[in-house]
Amino acid sequence: MKRITRQIKRAAFVVLAIALILAAAAGAAEKPKFIFLFIGDGMGEAQVQAADLCSRASGKGGLAFPSLPARGKITTKTAKGAVTDSAAAGTALASGYKTENGILNMDPSKTKRFVTAAMAARDRGMKVGIVTSSFMNDSTPAAFYAYAPSRLDLYGLGKQLAGSGFHYFGGGGLSRRKGKKGDQKDLYEMAAAGGYRVLRSAGDIQSATPGGKVLASGSAGPLPYEIDRRGGAPSLADFTRVGIKLLDNPKGFFMMVEGGLIDWTCHRSDTAALVHDVEAFDNAVKEAMAFARERLGETLIVVTADHETGGMSMGSGATGERLFKLLFQQKESNEKFDLKAAEMRKDRQKSFEKALPVVTDFFGIKALSGEETEELRAAFAQSMKPKAQRKRDKDYNRRYGPYEPLTMAASRILAGRAGVSWTSYGHTGAPVPVYAAGPGAEYFAGERDNTHIGRALFHLLP
Ligand SMILES: [Zn+2]
Repeated sequence: MKRITRQIKRAAFVVLAIALILAAAAGAAEKPKFIFLFIGDGMGEAQVQAADLCSRASGKGGLAFPSLPARGKITTKTAKGAVTDSAAAGTALASGYKTENGILNMDPSKTKRFVTAAMAARDRGMKVGIVTSSFMNDSTPAAFYAYAPSRLDLYGLGKQLAGSGFHYFGGGGLSRRKGKKGDQKDLYEMAAAGGYRVLRSAGDIQSATPGGKVLASGSAGPLPYEIDRRGGAPSLADFTRVGIKLLDNPKGFFMMVEGGLIDWTCHRSDTAALVHDVEAFDNAVKEAMAFARERLGETLIVVTADHETGGMSMGSGATGERLFKLLFQQKESNEKFDLKAAEMRKDRQKSFEKALPVVTDFFGIKALSGEETEELRAAFAQSMKPKAQRKRDKDYNRRYGPYEPLTMAASRILAGRAGVSWTSYGHTGAPVPVYAAGPGAEYFAGERDNTHIGRALFHLLP
């Protein structure tokens, strides 16, 4: 009897030991070697849905990132307020801490600093890359490499970039490169002095080879909107692919890629430009997905947003076919139409009838209803006044926000026809979606607060 008991005990011990080894192996395998964090700035559920429907209707099939297996949702409030900006939200995603709008990686009293997951990844021997379609010292990218009491100190943020030791910066360029008054040392020179190879031409960027630190941007500011991108200018996906090539190494990497212009299109109610920029963002995620297929079980991909912009919603009239058919009539961003409105103003264009075909051609809106014509007529009258002479009352602000009245009226007519409504020119407090795949993806599933993203990233670092 005793012998049998001993044998059972020994067998139980062996089983337990195997279970512990397996658990340890699973624990080790749960940590990814390569981490991608994609942030669609301003990208709420409706933005994803509209772009996905358009993509399907165009015959290209649905977007790739919404099909990632782990799904979640995050709240985006700040330390005290309901509606966040990209600085407070970026801080939460990058460091796991709440702060107030305008502040980067410091507490609301602006005295305590927060380390970011990207900084920690660098300190643990991983290579780190930051890619954005906005300018490189804008709040979302800066939230990963800088601390600042104010997001508006662009020159100071650029200086921190040059000293960050991160291995790759790609996408939009450094804004305010010589300071507010243009009399300070050039930020690109500072980056070069900090050991960065500065690549400015599309050819040099596309053919960049690994070795040392790289700052790759052909733009003075942000990349062009995807709808306006011409002539082989590198896309967000190109900058992501180059980043993968430069960062790939045995110790792993952390790369943050921001679709920064999604937010800009939503501020401007530019539905057509929006769907193009979400698609450009999706193409960047596809680069990471292709890499993940080569490094199976080693690559974590997380896709989320910092907040929703524009209070976008889809009505029952919105179908893929309708969105695609109507929105793809517009061939350039509505920001380009601002230039046409400015020309009309300069020429003292007085005739609405003469201006109307320019508007309808640009936005592809045909057969206007009486109500639509009157909306455009009222907006035209405002747009032809010098900016200082416009009476910006409540009604004006509700209709046009801080933007060009004629552009906004036409954009919202186009959106309305497609079944889309924009209820704000700013950010909203709506929760935003999260998608993830790869080792550790389960940490990003479920309903959470945005600080959870930063904390989960820290947890998953080596
Ligand atoms: Zn914004």
